[in-house]
Amino acid sequence: MIDLEHQDIQFLPGVGPQRAKLLGDELQIHTLHDLLYTFPYKHIDRTRLYYIHELTADMPYVQIRGQILSFETEGEGRKRRLIAHFTDGKGVVDLIWFNGLKYITSTYKTRTDYVVFGRPSAFNGRINIAHPDIDPADSLHLNTMGLQPYYNTTEKMKRAGLNSRSLEHFTSTLFEKINFTIPETLPEHLVASLRLVSLDEALRHVHYPRNAEELRKAQFRLKFEELLYIQLNIIRYTRDRRQKYRGFVFARIGTLFHDFYEKKLPFELTEAQKRVIREIRKDMGSGKQMNRLLQGDVGSGKTLVALMSMLIALDNGFQACIMAPTEILAEQHFATFRSMLEGLPIRVELLTGAVKGKRRQEVLEGVKQCNVHILVGTHAVLEDTVNFNSLGMVVIDEQHRFGVAQRARLWTKSTNPPHVLVMTATPIPRTLAMTLYGDLDVSVIDELPPGRKPIQTIHQFDNRRESLYRLMRSQLNEGRQAYVVYPLIKESEKMDIRNLEEGYEQLCRAMPEYRISRVHGKMKPAEKEAEMQAFAAGETQILVATTVIEVGVNVPNASVMVIENAERFGLAQLHQLRGRVGRGADQSYCILVTKYQLSADTRKRIQIMTETNDGFEIAEADLKLRGPGDLEGTQQSGIAFNLRLADLARDGQILQLARDTAEKILDEDPFCAAERNKILWKQLSKLRKTLVNWSAIS
Ligand code: ADP
Ligand code: MG
Repeated sequence: MIDLEHQDIQFLPGVGPQRAKLLGDELQIHTLHDLLYTFPYKHIDRTRLYYIHELTADMPYVQIRGQILSFETEGEGRKRRLIAHFTDGKGVVDLIWFNGLKYITSTYKTRTDYVVFGRPSAFNGRINIAHPDIDPADSLHLNTMGLQPYYNTTEKMKRAGLNSRSLEHFTSTLFEKINFTIPETLPEHLVASLRLVSLDEALRHVHYPRNAEELRKAQFRLKFEELLYIQLNIIRYTRDRRQKYRGFVFARIGTLFHDFYEKKLPFELTEAQKRVIREIRKDMGSGKQMNRLLQGDVGSGKTLVALMSMLIALDNGFQACIMAPTEILAEQHFATFRSMLEGLPIRVELLTGAVKGKRRQEVLEGVKQCNVHILVGTHAVLEDTVNFNSLGMVVIDEQHRFGVAQRARLWTKSTNPPHVLVMTATPIPRTLAMTLYGDLDVSVIDELPPGRKPIQTIHQFDNRRESLYRLMRSQLNEGRQAYVVYPLIKESEKMDIRNLEEGYEQLCRAMPEYRISRVHGKMKPAEKEAEMQAFAAGETQILVATTVIEVGVNVPNASVMVIENAERFGLAQLHQLRGRVGRGADQSYCILVTKYQLSADTRKRIQIMTETNDGFEIAEADLKLRGPGDLEGTQQSGIAFNLRLADLARDGQILQLARDTAEKILDEDPFCAAERNKILWKQLSKLRKTLVNWSAIS
């Protein structure tokens, strides 16, 4: 039996040291085991042969059998191409090559039977196949070949002649060498009760299935296994942590909470807010350490829930801290809290990079002496100089902008870990949440404060500005305000700022009767601050900005959000931006301005935005359109998605099964000691070394 995990790939016949290096560098294939687990991204049915006269340009891939009649070259220099006239006795089709001409003419002969495989297209009314795969007919056994695997390769590999075909050759050679049953990696009782195919069968069929059903079963088994181990890891870690850490017990609701609720709260809480506050209270009184994710659409009133939760900590003699991702947002929270808590014996302070010198010393001293009860800040609160006297509760706003490591540092600010509330307005689809935040309890605010009218979203091409100006004017004349937002991307920052400047000037010319603020990332903080303040105070009516306003700015009087170059924003971002308006009782508008020519994906995105205001629906759509690896937040959160096969957007049901199975296993075998699960725990400890610590989220 060969040792798949330790046998170097270079010793596989046909590989050798040079190709082994490429495989290692480009695809992380170092051992035979790695190769075995490099799965094809698609399969092509090679059981069917077509006649040439059947071919049409809209067929994906076809296979024909016949002989080359003659070769011919056309064109000069870079346009030179080689044409082989190919016949099956009933029709003729042109095979075309734009490079490697010499190789083709010296390899393939006329009057020899070949099987040709490729994608037909039409040119000048004739069907041709460019760069087809050609095999001598007697070397293939088409009726037994079944589905042919296609493997990803990189440009560098292709230049060295390593293509999907080469990988196919390697995997088929490997399977010839594996003349034994590949050992199982799941316990027998699971394989049996869930009717999974064995690992041996799954691995063989995921590369070389004879039909679609075999492929599906193989993929199901491998996806399930992949997700099961992730879930086992998360759930085990979570249960462990709950055992180990006792949380502070906030047994009582005291006068601060009550006084705030009775005297300060300017409105009635929504049912959803009440429910979430109850959930948080229960956590904090339970003796376990709270780790809760609070999801709620922009404007749903999360900040208020955070504030009231912090008051519970204060009532029990502890300090609280809220961390925001930007200075502007921190400042806004600070201002909100100060005004809402006015008259109550609570000292709120702000700590950001902009708080310096003597002021900073005062804040730090107050935090240390417990004179500061609520500290509002950016990641500045994580610095070593910040020492709390008794930190009992931490709120992290817009969590996706903080990395795992940053969040983990908060724990060190207190001898016992504080209760943690993570808030996000980017709703995370359930499947993703289960994988990313499997150890967090989840609360959802699924209701907006009453009296809000759904925002009306309109798509507008950028050559039709007049109707845009008309809408803006009608709102501004009613005393409302408007945002005009431009994308800002690091790579094209200069261009983006120029776009913004031009847009600003255009707007000044088109609407001279209004006062306009302008904010972008290249301005000095003080200047930026002044412009923002002017808009927030209602001194200016229009704010032209890059995405600096994306997170958190709260100007309830604003009723128009114009998003320029909307095609360049992702769905999550568009939704976030849109949430900046619609905060009052009147009708608000979001106008997505795009160029005329749009890709299919972009059109879909814009359409979704105009059709729904529901953040969860949008998040699901986003996951489907972009895939989880791209989702805002998953990258910054420092969690690599090294899923080989499972797709969080599509395999929700398998994930659920994996989660339920993992729960059940750990219920039955809490100490991970049962003989029948031995293989699981062995496998898990092996995988743990390679998995990022998924669950150390907070
Ligand atoms: P989020 O942080 O979820 O985006 P905020 O907490 O900033 O939302 O709330 C948005 C606005 O709604 C704020 O102006 C806030 O004062 C207001 N608000 C919050 N809860 C309520 C409520 N129950 N009724 C009316 N207005 C509310
Ligand atoms: Mg908020």
